[in-house]
Amino acid sequence: MEFEAVIGLEVHAQLLTNTKIFCNCSTKFGNAPNENTCTVCLGLPGALPVLNKKVVDYAMMMALATECKIAPYSIFARKNYFYPDLPKGYQISQFELPIAEHGKVHIDLGDYKKTIGVTRIHMEEDAGKLVHDGVGSDPNSSYVDLNRACVPLIEIVSEPDMRTAQEAVAYLKKIRQVLVYLGVCDGNMDQGSLRCDANISIRPVGQVELGTRSEMKNMNSFKFIEKAIEYEIKRQIHVVKSGEEVVQETRQYDSHKDITLSLRSKEHAHDYRYFPDPDLVPLRIDDAWIEEMRSALCELPDAKVARFVEQYKIPEYDAEVLSSSRSLADYYEETVKHIDAPKAVSNWIMGDILRELKNDKLDINECPITPKMLADMIKLITDGTISSKIAKTVFEEMYTTKKAPKVIVEEKGLVQVTDTGAIEKMINEVIAANPGQLEQYRSGKDRLFGFFVGQVMKASRGKANPKIVNDILRDKLKG
Ligand code: ADP
Ligand code: MG
Ligand code: ZN
Repeated sequence: MEFEAVIGLEVHAQLLTNTKIFCNCSTKFGNAPNENTCTVCLGLPGALPVLNKKVVDYAMMMALATECKIAPYSIFARKNYFYPDLPKGYQISQFELPIAEHGKVHIDLGDYKKTIGVTRIHMEEDAGKLVHDGVGSDPNSSYVDLNRACVPLIEIVSEPDMRTAQEAVAYLKKIRQVLVYLGVCDGNMDQGSLRCDANISIRPVGQVELGTRSEMKNMNSFKFIEKAIEYEIKRQIHVVKSGEEVVQETRQYDSHKDITLSLRSKEHAHDYRYFPDPDLVPLRIDDAWIEEMRSALCELPDAKVARFVEQYKIPEYDAEVLSSSRSLADYYEETVKHIDAPKAVSNWIMGDILRELKNDKLDINECPITPKMLADMIKLITDGTISSKIAKTVFEEMYTTKKAPKVIVEEKGLVQVTDTGAIEKMINEVIAANPGQLEQYRSGKDRLFGFFVGQVMKASRGKANPKIVNDILRDKLKG
């Protein structure tokens, strides 16, 4: 029997507001433990929450960017459970009436494209953090840091539309890209600003109803998510093939052993005794507010890719790489403004620039080569001043010294040799120095042409114009 996997993701994204969702405390990361707290986020009796409007703005922006329908009326609910990092004994979240539902996210897997449904987006507060690593005065105690309590999150819940670990990763990358484009989340997975629960089940190919799922909690790296899902699919298939049943449970991925382990049996919604929070009024959103947020949206990745293909006539693949972040796309467009060579600019950015930045762990905003410098260098190639081979040298020099390409070419004497007389002289010398190869070439060993080109280029230290070299050389070798 053949099986297919069914995957649905719940993504938590921390919103980039300055203050928390229900109080005025700072959301700044890295402050002293419990510095960012007040009566509200400490859960002291009688303190009342007040909704931060910015959180609603940001949630709406993400909802619109994922083609969700925004609810004119939504409510906050209490999700009750006991944990030491949750001082109120409940988390304020949205349950029955979330702010947005029925959205879509489009993913591109290279070989095929697919649309993943977004079930819902809701707003909620984060919990605090327990510190177990003996940093406090008593190494044997655990400590509670409530700086993160009440920090705003949105949870984006997908339909169970994904079938492979690669689709899940592509979906999560797209969600992250859109959040960062919008400026509503920094997308920093190491610091936990973006985390993901993966729900996974399997079923025989052709079966419509869903199998029993397991849920993998709080994963925060693309690589581990992919591995964890792959492991879990294999595990479930093995369970079913051994005649047993998959049980509904929460599991955790152990990245050192590359396996998933059972954490606890799954809680059901009724275990949380959800009920509307009596301290918060229902949230009403009118059309004017929705339109205000719609006009605040930037150009989104899908639209940008389509425009780049249309406007610059570059391949879709190039457009996707260049649109991976807003700043990279801006860098590209700024360069193309200086020189009308969209594909050449794309090649240099996707190849040399991104490789250097990756090596040096730099962002495009920190690139030592400005768009103007890159454009000027490409101009030197197109007007014949330097060969594209020499351009690699100029590029490296530009990257390390930040000097203008013209200056580098002058200082290093890299101007291309187009003087046919000078090239002919070099060719004569090369031919005279290699009589054996000449004889072989003339007796039919055509492949040796490349050898002669290489020798001439070497003699010119890469500066001879390759086209002129080819033309003269072909003539001379004929004899
Ligand atoms: P919770 O996990 O909080 O109970 P939901 O019931 O809304 O929440 O489901 C959460 C996620 O699980 C959704 O992304 C949904 O698509 C996915 N999901 C639900 N059932 C299955 C299943 N049988 N297999 C895989 N994913 C599933
Ligand atoms: Mg869940
Ligand atoms: Zn507070």
